[in-house]
Amino acid sequence: MTSPEGHAAHCIFDEIVAGRAPTHKIYEDKDTLAFLDLFPITRGHTLVIPKRHVDRLTELRENEYEDLFRTVVTVCRRVERLTKDYNVAINQGRLAGQLVFHLHFHIIPRYNTPGPFAISPRTRIREDEAQAVLADLGDVSE
Ligand SMILES: [Zn+2]
Repeated sequence: MTSPEGHAAHCIFDEIVAGRAPTHKIYEDKDTLAFLDLFPITRGHTLVIPKRHVDRLTELRENEYEDLFRTVVTVCRRVERLTKDYNVAINQGRLAGQLVFHLHFHIIPRYNTPGPFAISPRTRIREDEAQAVLADLGDVSE
């Protein structure tokens, strides 16, 4: 549920931003916040959010891209103190695994242990499939 102001009801990340819910902050500035995931997939699993509530990447304003991405890179530098191997991921929508509907980047350190992103067998895309996807995704010159 989103109000006209764009604030979701009962958004746990808004509670964290407001200081009303406990968190383990990694980094904070005026517009962004990074904190440890409460249910880490691996040690150092961190979330980076814009303080302004948006559900999705596509709802960000262009003037917010730089601040958010700068914080993602800042946290990546810190994660590199743990390991040079990590995933940076965004889950968008319920079917993609989004659990909290406030945009967040996951930064998930990897330590050569089995995990949910273990490499699984993959089949090379067929040319006709590739062309169909290209037709759906649009002009590469954009
Ligand atoms: Zn929120």
